[in-house]
Amino acid sequence: MITKEYSNGEVSIVWKPEKCIHSGICVKTLPKVYNPKERPWIKAENASSEEIIRQVSKCPSGALSIRQESKTMVKIDREDNGKKGRFVIYANDTFAGEMTYVWAGESRFIIDHTGIEENFIGRGLGKQLVMKAVAYARNNDLKILPLCPFAKKVFDKDKGLEDVRA
Ligand code: SF4
Repeated sequence: MITKEYSNGEVSIVWKPEKCIHSGICVKTLPKVYNPKERPWIKAENASSEEIIRQVSKCPSGALSIRQESKTMVKIDREDNGKKGRFVIYANDTFAGEMTYVWAGESRFIIDHTGIEENFIGRGLGKQLVMKAVAYARNNDLKILPLCPFAKKVFDKDKGLEDVRA
């Protein structure tokens, strides 16, 4: 059976198209995540894990389910002084890395650096930082200029992020 996964960095929405009865309940209950007119049609990064889990439990067909990303408890905080800021990621309460940005006007920010601590490299935390910034930008009607080579690579690979790219 075909299975597709869409992650918000903490949980993945697992979708089995063959089970989907197209009742549209997902679209009605969480339109910021489910939009059949866009590709990918599920944008998990647009909602919190709690919202996603609550919505998935309403799918009548079992086409949607949840997969926890990992047993590591990941937390991302944002710090901002009005000129620049950073998204800081903690894995099980330990500092694991950061992604820094500077404001370029009121509605745009530049991601200039992403750095993951050596012990945490290879766990997808850098991508989680980028997706957190994407969710923040979408929720606040902002655009991102990904100058940091890592962030740029994430944007280049995922055409679904074009809507927030400056
Ligand atoms: S709620 Fe479930 S069955 Fe209905 S359209 Fe969404 S995925 Fe398909």
